Amino acid sequence: MVSKTKKPSIPITEIEQSAFCQTDEDLASKTLQEEFEIGVQWQKLPISYMRTSPEQLSNNIQKAKKTLGQKLVILGHHYQRNEVIQFADFRGDSFKLSQFAAEQKEAEFIVFCGVHFMAETADILSTPQQKVILPNMTAGCSMSDMAQKDDVLDCWEDINDVIGSKSSLIPMTYMNSAAAIKSLCGENNGIVCTSSNADAAFDWAFERGDKILFLPDQHLGRNTAYKKGIKLNEMIVWNPFKPLGGHTEEVLEKAKIILWQGHCSVHTRFTLEQIRQARETHKDINVIVHPECTFDVVNEADLCGSTEFIKKAIVDSPAGTKWAVGTEISMVNRLAEENPDKTIFCLDSVVCPCSTMYRIHPAYLSWVLDGLLEGVVVNQIQVDQKTREFSRIALERMLSVV
Ligand code: SF4
Repeated sequence: MVSKTKKPSIPITEIEQSAFCQTDEDLASKTLQEEFEIGVQWQKLPISYMRTSPEQLSNNIQKAKKTLGQKLVILGHHYQRNEVIQFADFRGDSFKLSQFAAEQKEAEFIVFCGVHFMAETADILSTPQQKVILPNMTAGCSMSDMAQKDDVLDCWEDINDVIGSKSSLIPMTYMNSAAAIKSLCGENNGIVCTSSNADAAFDWAFERGDKILFLPDQHLGRNTAYKKGIKLNEMIVWNPFKPLGGHTEEVLEKAKIILWQGHCSVHTRFTLEQIRQARETHKDINVIVHPECTFDVVNEADLCGSTEFIKKAIVDSPAGTKWAVGTEISMVNRLAEENPDKTIFCLDSVVCPCSTMYRIHPAYLSWVLDGLLEGVVVNQIQVDQKTREFSRIALERMLSVV
């Protein structure tokens, strides 16, 4: 058994998150130099890009995109800033964008305006000739950073040592995890899921085993398992900083779902009190949240679903409806702008964009496109062959399960 006590560490991406929370509603991009002034640790780039105004950057990106034509495709996650998402050829959540990445056989360059694990996924699903680029290499994801490969391997080995051949454990990882974690799942009869297909992925797993190790988001895992009829006392949380995840062998043997101790720093900000206030202030309000929110919040909300689900529910709703939304603020603001006939606001009155999505400033996009114009590929994301092979297996299972 490899279990050991480790010193807890908080990912830098999680620490930086609070620096972005503000009461000022204005999320308009400033020059990168000005944005650096709040003390962030982002990738450095040539000084000329740091000083260029957002308007000028916008013109430059437009021109570069036109010149690169069909050779280039830009994918943009819904949580991106307006100044970036406007250039996306395809917009979506991580599931939809991974489908787009798999379908783009023509483009030589795929520029991914999202976070690191998404660009890795695009690299795994694209052809070997295509090059996937992440404009800012420090655009990670705090949730993904909470599941480090060695810790997950220790956990996997520990649980299997305890349960032996009495049970069969299926590893399942949320899309929001590093390629190394997806690879571990692919290599061990497991699967990747997204918030759009987590229900179906649970069915897939229980057809093949009787326990699930769910990584890295405990909330998505708990909310999905509960929806599938699994009781809360059949689920435990694995703390990677404690021996045996903080449990006895007996508890591990009994548990049906083992949830990794990870969370999203954006979605765990939503609270029951915010829902109560929204209901008190607005009659006939619909509360809709993402399944990365806590169990209590999800159970109190009227609707819960993936980013695409939230978007569709609001866009398809009748004029005059009111929505309090528990997801990332850039997306909520955009939904409000694009649906002026409805009342749409974020549950949290403090404006907290996802700090790592926010790292894709238009200066980075302009920089990588200028590189391509000069024949230089900057910030290419390349997953090594073995990791790629097993991750692809787990991702193809994900794409086949709906
Ligand atoms: S919203 Fe949460 S899960 Fe999504 S990229 Fe940001 S930190 Fe990661």
